[in-house]
Amino acid sequence: MKTKLRKNANRKEALPPLPYLWERLTADDFAQAVRASKGVALLPLGCLEKHGRHLPLGTDILIASELCRRAASVEPAVVVPCPPFGLVSEVRNGPGTLALRADTLLALLRDLCADLARNGLTKIVLVNGHGGNQELLRYFLRERLEEESAYTLYLFRPEWRGDEERRYAAMLGRDALPECGHACIQETPEVMAIAPETVHMERVVPRETHRLGRLAALREAFLATSVDWYADYPAQIAGDPTGSTPALGEWLLSLHADKLVRAIRAVRADAATPAILAEYQTRSRAPL
Ligand SMILES: [Zn+2]
Repeated sequence: MKTKLRKNANRKEALPPLPYLWERLTADDFAQAVRASKGVALLPLGCLEKHGRHLPLGTDILIASELCRRAASVEPAVVVPCPPFGLVSEVRNGPGTLALRADTLLALLRDLCADLARNGLTKIVLVNGHGGNQELLRYFLRERLEEESAYTLYLFRPEWRGDEERRYAAMLGRDALPECGHACIQETPEVMAIAPETVHMERVVPRETHRLGRLAALREAFLATSVDWYADYPAQIAGDPTGSTPALGEWLLSLHADKLVRAIRAVRADAATPAILAEYQTRSRAPL
């Protein structure tokens, strides 16, 4: 007589508590978490790079991971541990930048997402904390059209909506948001809220926080180069973080986490994208 190996042996235990942080789940609880999440995974992405003189190298990892943790505390989704790699070829001048080649990162994303799908996580949301990753992730999204994947990929793109930007500026006592882009009045408060012991405001050098504009003439002439970022911000700080507080960071993190909750709900309900992808692949195989 054939003996059937029963997966999970009809476990009747309660679901593991939210958030479903992959590395903290047992194997059996992981299987339950995947089912409760309806196959939705959050993949936080960041990098290790200098963030001015006052923030830790892993700022983007801390923020992306914290957003995922907060959102997954509200809506079931399995949170993948954040890989410590990102596209940082433009900032190798700073100590502590961990720079893998772009093709290595793409290979990593391909293998990682394929193995998430093998684990039942077939709807993968990329939650990116590093601006320098955007183009790579856009490319990775586009590349999914070149072959059929066992998963559907989504890129979380939180933007200011409605009067949010004006409200934040008002909290800073300003009419409009000041120059901001890196280790600034947005990232600094967020890290203060997550890991205050890693922030060293007394080390900020105000003159380093402004754009140098060394290639301004080319920008005016509609041109980009490989060294645009380094030319403007060699100290890897864009915008003055003075005035940052943990309360401001808490406000920003809640705002973005609420948007990620909305994204998880939309992804779980989304039947359109997999269907349209399948339609596209079918028609692509025989366009005539
Ligand atoms: Zn950053």
